[in-house]
Amino acid sequence: MLESLPLELLCDMFTSLDIGSILNLRHVSRRLREAAGAVPAYVFATEHGLDAVLALFWSGLGPHFTLHDLDNALRTENCAVPRCDRFGHFVFLPTLKRVCFGCLGHQREFSFLLLGRVDIAESHSSEKSGLVHVMHTLPGFYSEDKTAYHKQRHHIVAGLDSVKPRDPDQGHYGWPCRFRYLAAIALPFLECSGSQVRSHHTVFCNRCSG
Ligand SMILES: [Zn+2]
Ligand SMILES: [Zn+2]
Repeated sequence: MLESLPLELLCDMFTSLDIGSILNLRHVSRRLREAAGAVPAYVFATEHGLDAVLALFWSGLGPHFTLHDLDNALRTENCAVPRCDRFGHFVFLPTLKRVCFGCLGHQREFSFLLLGRVDIAESHSSEKSGLVHVMHTLPGFYSEDKTAYHKQRHHIVAGLDSVKPRDPDQGHYGWPCRFRYLAAIALPFLECSGSQVRSHHTVFCNRCSG
């Protein structure tokens, strides 16, 4: 039984487990919950990136990312786009890459297609190979238009270099850029030096607000 493993081994296991499994295992027993609480990456993720943890879980992306992946995203400061050195306010959930507001709206790697517009057979085999991830968007308010509530869940595919649109005319920009906010979430940057941990939330980011 998992519970009988030494705490140290359980902690190692949690770090390399995917986020979906961790959230499920926590409900199995008190000992597993305690083990999760002893893993620094888990504590950081739930204290500073709980919205991202839950979004990954509920959007079906949990199995694709480990605690270690999320920890890396939390400790990355800048946008992942080459030659963009702006602060990355968001993570793009299908790839867990940091991205700034400007690049999220305009760079091709943060575009996606609706599942129905993708060559299904090809994207399923690509998903198995880990090249593309299907994400089920969550209902909520997105983009700058705070009055537009997205009630419907959309099933989208990112990782577009390996996915072919069914209708070639659709291209990779099949959806207006403003819908990209459905696939991104704000994530604070964690700055750790020694035992000191500081988290920089978007509202406190003085690099972009000046
Ligand atoms: Zn950028
Ligand atoms: Zn900023």
